[in-house]
Amino acid sequence: MISKAEDGFYHPTTEAEICELVKHAAEQGLKVRVRGSGHSVQSAIYTGDFKSPPRDDPNINIYLDNMISVCFDYEHKQVTAEAGCHLGKDPTDPTSTIKNSLLYQIDCKGWALSDTGGIIHQTVGGFMLSGSSGGSLSDSVAWQIVAIRAVDGLGNIHDFRKTDDLNNPFYGMGVSMGLLGIITSVTFQCVDRYDIIGVETTSSLKECAIDLFGPGGNDKPSLDGYFRDIQYSRLLWYPQEGVGKVVVWEAHKLDKTPENFKPKHYHLFPSILGSELPAQIFASTMFKLFDILNPPEPTSKLGKLGRQILKPFYSLIVNYFLASAVLAPQQFQDVWWQGLPMDNNVNYKLMPTQFTELWLPLSTAADVMQELRLAYEEGGFNATGTHTCEIYMSASNNFWMSPSYQQDVIRVDPFWFGKNRGNPNEVYYPMYWERLKKFNYRLHWGKALSGDVGYLKAQYPRWDDFMSLREHMDPHQVFVTDYWRRNLGIDAD
Ligand SMILES: Cc1cc2nc3c(=O)[nH]c(=O)nc-3n(C[C@H](O)[C@H](O)[C@H](O)COP(=O)(O)OP(=O)(O)OC[C@H]3O[C@@H](n4cnc5c(N)ncnc54)[C@H](O)[C@@H]3O)c2cc1C
Repeated sequence: MISKAEDGFYHPTTEAEICELVKHAAEQGLKVRVRGSGHSVQSAIYTGDFKSPPRDDPNINIYLDNMISVCFDYEHKQVTAEAGCHLGKDPTDPTSTIKNSLLYQIDCKGWALSDTGGIIHQTVGGFMLSGSSGGSLSDSVAWQIVAIRAVDGLGNIHDFRKTDDLNNPFYGMGVSMGLLGIITSVTFQCVDRYDIIGVETTSSLKECAIDLFGPGGNDKPSLDGYFRDIQYSRLLWYPQEGVGKVVVWEAHKLDKTPENFKPKHYHLFPSILGSELPAQIFASTMFKLFDILNPPEPTSKLGKLGRQILKPFYSLIVNYFLASAVLAPQQFQDVWWQGLPMDNNVNYKLMPTQFTELWLPLSTAADVMQELRLAYEEGGFNATGTHTCEIYMSASNNFWMSPSYQQDVIRVDPFWFGKNRGNPNEVYYPMYWERLKKFNYRLHWGKALSGDVGYLKAQYPRWDDFMSLREHMDPHQVFVTDYWRRNLGIDAD
């Protein structure tokens, strides 16, 4: 069996080595988890509730950075990628480059995936297993997954292929949070490569070209109508009193790329001397300052004073920051894999972000937005926080545990600045979990979970089928950690 490396991880190079590790764990009663690029809630990834695997943990934490190869099937326009392959370059992993990333390699073949998430640092395995996706109802990476290869909890290898039979365990494996096995490779049906063109517009809520809270009319589409009509989109809502703005990023595929096509990259932050870094340093400093003025529980005189200063100070700074965007929409055009991930240049050290993400039936969009507006009005900064709330959409698919299982959804993704004091699970997310309960949400598996197992279970028609498959694939619960036991209500064996 391979040994644990200095960094505390096992780095297998072959499936056989993974099988050996799992067999060893099953025999010894140990846990096994796999790290992708580490973007999910940490305890959803590792064998314990800690930030990174400690060297003396007897359990097995696997890093698949030696399993990143990509193989092309030219006849069927399919690509099979080992699960450790990153979608794009992961700036935190020194072994990850643009050239060894999946999206770049398929683009070089003249192929593409039909969508990407807002960032492309994730691994193939991690992106798929948490049900991640971009903001689109017309396109979805989930539809392009045609085969999955995995090692089960007994150390045996299985191949799963997509069929029309929705009872096929393939549909249980696709979004399975690492609980059914270690994914070793995934095969995607590719589409032809394409370029995109788009625009980002910033406005007050009232002046927004979308009727964010109503049924639409007077030349404005309703939010769900807009999401149905636009190919790719996402909204950033600044709900704080005195700001009340919305940033609408939208794009579509070019049917045919003109010969003189020149990429014009999108900038999430204003570019100063060709770099977005100075603006991120400024934003990071400001968010820290906002946090100082906005203590989680302001009991002291100073704390209360901070709250009073926060409102005018916050609106001054944020309105100033957004002013030029309000005046001039940002036009961009790009190659698909560079244009669609609009948040890819965020520097996590400066702007660490945490989230919970609620996926709700698309038909409830206007009601959800009204409920949120009311909550923000009633709760002030306690409810809005000092960051934005991302609003986007995702297309229905057939993976049993996908938060968009058999329904198109609107996604509510409140951001929490990672350097804030306080625990967002206690002081920030519960407002969303409670207020939006009546709309039957499902939660993004890679982001913070509420722990309300009964509620979540009721939202997933194939929950019991998934749990039966889990028992079959992993009878000794090698992949079940305390975190997943707690959040999915899995009893000890
Ligand atoms: C800045 C940022 C932006 C984001 N943008 C989006 C977005 O636009 N859309 C969206 O839907 N989500 C988004 N996410 C969430 C992100 O896509 C998910 O957290 C995703 O799971 C991360 O992939 P990863 O490679 O980092 O996997 P990890 O987070 O490392 O792992 C995800 C889960 O899969 C397990 N796992 C990973 N690989 C394997 C394997 N081969 N076999 C078995 N188990 C495995 C892990 O143990 C863990 O439970 C974002 C997250 C961040 C931090």
